[in-house]
Amino acid sequence: MIFEYAPAPESRSVVSLRETYDLFIDGEFTPARSGDHLTVLNPADETELARVAVAGEADVDRAVTAARRAHETVWSRMSGAERGKYLFRIARIIQERSRELAVLESMDNGKPVKETRDVDLPLVAAHFFYYAGWADKLAHAGFGPDPKPLGVAAQVIPWNFPLLMLAWKIAPALATGNTVVLKPAETTPLTALVFAQICQEADLPPGVVNILTGAGETGRALVGHPGTDKVAFTGSTEVGRQIARAVAGTDKRLTLELGGKGANIVYDDAALDQAVEGVVSGIFFNQGHVCCAGSRLLVQESVADEFLPRLKERIAKLRLGDPLDKNTDIGAINSAAQLERVRELTATADEENVERWSPACELPEHGYWFAPTVLTGVSQAHRVAREEIFGPVLSVLTFRTPEEAVAKANNTPYGLSAGVWTEKGSRMLWTAERLRAGVIWSNTFNKFDPTSPFGGYKESGYGREGGRHGLEAYLG
Ligand code: NAD
Repeated sequence: MIFEYAPAPESRSVVSLRETYDLFIDGEFTPARSGDHLTVLNPADETELARVAVAGEADVDRAVTAARRAHETVWSRMSGAERGKYLFRIARIIQERSRELAVLESMDNGKPVKETRDVDLPLVAAHFFYYAGWADKLAHAGFGPDPKPLGVAAQVIPWNFPLLMLAWKIAPALATGNTVVLKPAETTPLTALVFAQICQEADLPPGVVNILTGAGETGRALVGHPGTDKVAFTGSTEVGRQIARAVAGTDKRLTLELGGKGANIVYDDAALDQAVEGVVSGIFFNQGHVCCAGSRLLVQESVADEFLPRLKERIAKLRLGDPLDKNTDIGAINSAAQLERVRELTATADEENVERWSPACELPEHGYWFAPTVLTGVSQAHRVAREEIFGPVLSVLTFRTPEEAVAKANNTPYGLSAGVWTEKGSRMLWTAERLRAGVIWSNTFNKFDPTSPFGGYKESGYGREGGRHGLEAYLG
């Protein structure tokens, strides 16, 4: 007998959306000079959620000027202990409003509320708490006896973890005495705008945090503005390259957190059922919209025939559908454009004679959806083994020896994450030492903690966010 889950939708009533949102500059919501707006959709059903202002060059200039004034007259003069109090206050308000923020994030992004509630929001609050704790201890952080803030930081973030990426950017910048102008992604600006309200609620001095909504052009104007001291970007490698070119030759500091094509290596001595869980969460968490996703499974040939059926059996049990249903495992793809990219890249597998499998799974009629997909018979030469798909698509390769596993795992232009599944500590350490990846998980995957630095090698970017290392990017 098959027991069906009863629907368990989270109520939307905790969220009160405005029809339109202005820009947040100098502590106030203010219309964009351009008068332009963009429409924000719910990717799960394509309904309109709100319209947000599009910041142009004049607005970027206003925001940078406000941030400069706030830096010079208030924020950099304040003691670390006082700055810390504001950060603690923000962290507590985030906790108080976490249900509202989790539901809104799920509506705006399409990710399951189970994830926003249990992963995104607790990590967002933890990030502010963690960096609040550093604010009065900077002299003991290992960057000299009196480290100084850089000034004004221009920060541009993607849509896959909207509020969490904001926290990764804003918390360390503020703790170290910098002020910020942040641009959220065009498809997911709403939680950043609620964050602006939280800054008001916390009585944060005007101009310390400025939020500019808009698309790529707004981002380009912000990173190109001569009045900032630091650019922090998280997003695609392609845009990262453009930003590196725009910043080259200036004295601005730059950190880039870019794409990835993480390998999840399963040795024949691994606890296979645990590894199945780790591989599933490695690629299907957040619909695979994760820069550090384990999008390449490298399974030892001797256990591949046992492992793959177990993996497929588990994937067939994933529940795809309404992101606000608390039982949902896989939500919507964030946008029509991203769905198109996932479809296009996955289709190259068909042309290259890769075997494609998805469980029987009904896709909702409206919205942007893609069934969990496993590609087997993949070799290093296939596009699906080399390029970041950024969707719920797992490419499976096999290996015979540990040397081959390491060579295949490192054979990528990226270097952000990797996973190693083995019962032998010595084999785990041997492998980890040889992998060129910023984060390596062993017998687990996608574990995040504000105390732990995160960042990449090669085309995955440079600089580290999180932990004590994350302070360095904002100190002179
Ligand atoms: P994207 O690069 O298209 O956009 C990211 C942000 O940059 C958005 O806010 C966008 O409006 C802005 N932007 C676009 N063009 C710009 C320009 N010319 N100048 C300045 N800003 C510009 O990326 P995306 O599609 O939103 O996000 C997905 C990518 O982000 C994936 O490649 C993923 O791997 C990466 N990512 C990396 C990390 C990490 O920590 N390494 C974390 C999350 C996502």
